[in-house]
Amino acid sequence: MSNQEILKRSRILNIRIRRFARSKQIYDYRLTGQPLGGSIKDSIGPFPEYLLHGVKCLRSESGYCSPCGYSLDGYPIEKAKEKCVENSIHKQAMRIVKDFDRLVMKKQFRVFQSGKEKRIYFVVTAVGSFFSDNEVPLNIKSEMLSKLQALVKDSNMNVWMFVETRPEDVITYVEQGKIGKICDSLIDLNTTVLFGFESINETIRNLDYLKNLSLETFENAVKLLQNYGIRNGAFVFVGGHSLTQTEIVKDFENTVSYLYSRRIMPVVMVENLKKCTINHLLYLLGQHRLVEPRTSLKILEILRAKQVDLSPEPWLVADPVGGPPEPAIHSFKNDKMRTCNDCAGNILGGLRYIRKTYRWNDFDVLLHPEIDDCNCIEDYRKLIELESNLSSLPLEQRIFSNVKFAEQNLNKYFALLKNNSEVKTGEN
Ligand code: SF4
Ligand SMILES: [Zn+2]
Repeated sequence: MSNQEILKRSRILNIRIRRFARSKQIYDYRLTGQPLGGSIKDSIGPFPEYLLHGVKCLRSESGYCSPCGYSLDGYPIEKAKEKCVENSIHKQAMRIVKDFDRLVMKKQFRVFQSGKEKRIYFVVTAVGSFFSDNEVPLNIKSEMLSKLQALVKDSNMNVWMFVETRPEDVITYVEQGKIGKICDSLIDLNTTVLFGFESINETIRNLDYLKNLSLETFENAVKLLQNYGIRNGAFVFVGGHSLTQTEIVKDFENTVSYLYSRRIMPVVMVENLKKCTINHLLYLLGQHRLVEPRTSLKILEILRAKQVDLSPEPWLVADPVGGPPEPAIHSFKNDKMRTCNDCAGNILGGLRYIRKTYRWNDFDVLLHPEIDDCNCIEDYRKLIELESNLSSLPLEQRIFSNVKFAEQNLNKYFALLKNNSEVKTGEN
């Protein structure tokens, strides 16, 4: 089975699952004129993150990005006009500007900013890609950014903004000369542009996560922005079907080393389980295990050992239990966990502490005395041993057999989803 064939079949699976999700109205698409998010758990860091939502991410429509749950949010582009989505996105964007004090200033959760002048951080993004005009039209982007720029200048605030986007949309913006319309605002707002990169490993990035992203495209986008003096960050996904815990750790280490070697800030995303994804299907039917809390601990130790002094921060960590929407099953609460509940809670507490404080010395005190002595460390070791036998099969082969399994069990999965009380209905 060629990689092309695995890719094609995985995309078809994603499309079929997403169509089913849409036909069953899994999420509520009603637009309220309010951007989504705002709490620390909805964010990639200890500050608010807002999503301008309304249009479905085009990449999700094409069957890419297997673990993504945002792919369910928003209207397909052909429905956007009828639903007056552009109006709503404009309202959402202006809400952030008008209510900046309440929505941004009062939601700074970072503790201990000593040694640094007090900074105000926030994220504004689309469901999929901030630079995509389908999702946030250029006129809205440019109006919002220049109003924010003026606000910051007038009040002398020390604001640092983050936006999330796909690399190819940045390249299009530069090629079509649109970047000039927002570049000054981005610079004045101390913007860091974050890309959905996820992994340096080609097989993991493009065959497991289905990012459809070449290293060349990613590096091009990074270089283009650096030429404009704009900072970059990249998401690093921790988890994924078919991967062993050891492979997850190794991949994280390689990806973070690569990003730091190019002075790109890593944004760590530990997998939580989004409904209506291949991973969710595999999990419910016994073929997928989430990242163990003890594996997350290793990840944090790698981050600590490798961290580089980047501006505005050396790294960011998203809340693994957060949303929107908040997942019912995540790495720190699931019935396959080998790490015991006490240790899982302890590690999650440590992760949440470190993402708010960046104080590694306190992190040691918080965690290690309890978890080093717990019996579950033995269960975790046994799991690693068991998985080492599985990993003798090439990763491509393991991915393929999971894709085949998902194909064969698709109807069973749909039946489970239909009977699942977590499935919400909404207007479409
Ligand atoms: S680009 Fe982002 S929002 Fe779109 S499908 Fe991929 S991960 Fe999801
Ligand atoms: Zn334990």
